[in-house]
Amino acid sequence: MLLEVPTPQEGRLRRLAAAFESRFEGRPAGVAVAPGRVNLIGEHLDYNEGHVLPVAIDRSLMVAFAPRPDGRVRLYSLDFDQESAFDLAGFERDSAAPWSDYVRGVAWALREAGHRLSGLDGAIEGDVPIGSGLSSSAALEVAAIGAFAAASGLRLDRRRMALLGQRAENSFVGVACGIMDQMAATLARAGHALLIDCRTLECEDVPVPLEAAGGDGRAGLRLVVADSGVRRALVDSQYNVRRQECRQAAELLAKAIPDRPVASLRDVSPEDLARYGDGLPPDLLRRARHVVEEERRVLGSVEALRGGNMQAFGEMLGASHRSLRDDFEVSCSELDLLVDLARALPGVLGARLTGAGFGGCTVNLVRADALEAFRERVVARYCSETGRAGRMYVCRTADGLRLRKFGRP
Ligand code: ADP
Ligand code: MG
Repeated sequence: MLLEVPTPQEGRLRRLAAAFESRFEGRPAGVAVAPGRVNLIGEHLDYNEGHVLPVAIDRSLMVAFAPRPDGRVRLYSLDFDQESAFDLAGFERDSAAPWSDYVRGVAWALREAGHRLSGLDGAIEGDVPIGSGLSSSAALEVAAIGAFAAASGLRLDRRRMALLGQRAENSFVGVACGIMDQMAATLARAGHALLIDCRTLECEDVPVPLEAAGGDGRAGLRLVVADSGVRRALVDSQYNVRRQECRQAAELLAKAIPDRPVASLRDVSPEDLARYGDGLPPDLLRRARHVVEEERRVLGSVEALRGGNMQAFGEMLGASHRSLRDDFEVSCSELDLLVDLARALPGVLGARLTGAGFGGCTVNLVRADALEAFRERVVARYCSETGRAGRMYVCRTADGLRLRKFGRP
């Protein structure tokens, strides 16, 4: 199926509760729900200490839980149809059930930070596509933190939760990731993107005026995520190379720019680059140019969104893609094809690759009356030209982590 819509939440909750009751004794006390995310703009800026602009989407991970009086954690994954259990006294990964490592990791990170945890029984289910770059992993971490916090009576602020989730993924699961995904999964609000300053971790809500049709008869807009079906084989090695290149470029520019400190490319302006960029090797100059201009595009996008100027916002998306393709060189032929097909379609205001690149997804700003055409003339054509299993997800914006009680029967 090409056009995938999320399963209604109530149905998911019923299925989750039924699975919980059949695996464990009793009923769940509550459920923690954390969303996936898509980054609208600001790619490869997190480790350059710039700004990123993700939205949380209406696809999520759910953990239904009940506290246990002992220090035991028993988990059941509906999607993997598998159990995994551990004691809070010691933490090990479970190579037979790697999905449980995200939960084990957050329990470890919470304990490391000095929190007293209660054991729990937890049933886990999700509809964030796995491994597409919509961050099902951060959604699972954040939902698990929500479950542990509620089961253990902890009061944690949401920024703290995000940092603990990142710690779990970096140090326990062993995946180097920035802070964006977990911040979006905890702090985002429906109807808004979350502007994150990756240097200070300050956040601001930015309205994303999508759904409503214009008073002048214009159709509303939708965010469409198009999955190339290409799994990011190159991403780990190339990601590290880009980080290294950015660090090198910043160091060289720091020596060249006389009047102030340059700690990262965040501190470099387009004027600096015009003046001092000649001293950089050509590759590094292009990497730096992407970062410096992308930072301006994020701030320009915020202004465009606040002013309701969706045309201008769409143009920033297009410029971001060209920069990622030509200067940062993290695109691939499949992502370029998806973007080119989208750009050729009337009713698409903007399109670009989202996430680290080399595969994964594009994000598209599409008029609601052009969704069917998008399915046929972008996704179906992409599938037939490449032989890949492309997919599209029409996304609404959503809230970060929510905790709900399960009602009495
Ligand atoms: P993504 O881009 O989706 O974050 P990752 O490889 O970082 O991809 O994380 C995916 C992993 O997260 C899965 O392999 C699994 O271990 C865990 N995960 C994601 N969704 C679920 C789910 N519904 N149930 C259990 N584990 C999940
Ligand atoms: Mg992930």
